[in-house]
Amino acid sequence: MHEFSLASNVLKFCENELHKRPGSKIKKVNLLVGVMGGVDGNLLIRALDQLKAQGPFRDTEFMNENAPLIIRCRSCRCESRVEEILLNCPLCGEDDVELMGGQELLVKNIVFSEK
Ligand SMILES: [Zn+2]
Repeated sequence: MHEFSLASNVLKFCENELHKRPGSKIKKVNLLVGVMGGVDGNLLIRALDQLKAQGPFRDTEFMNENAPLIIRCRSCRCESRVEEILLNCPLCGEDDVELMGGQELLVKNIVFSEK
């Protein structure tokens, strides 16, 4: 399952961050899941909840938010945040747009707590 391999990458990333901050724990991790990435944010969180059960992130809370979609217009060069894919630029109406964001999975921030 795609979500499980992503989840284990997220945990590896968190382990690396933890190594940089000896003596602290990770309380919370905010993830940004792009709506176009084909990743189901809820499945990802469920996969994380299963995978974290063994290990240092048992008590870590993983949260997901959806990353905004960003389109850029090749005609007027503006970037717009949109709720759904638009085929036309909302500013100039040209249909020469490309998708800039909303496809990624990012660890947005990590909240540490001292032991
Ligand atoms: Zn435009």
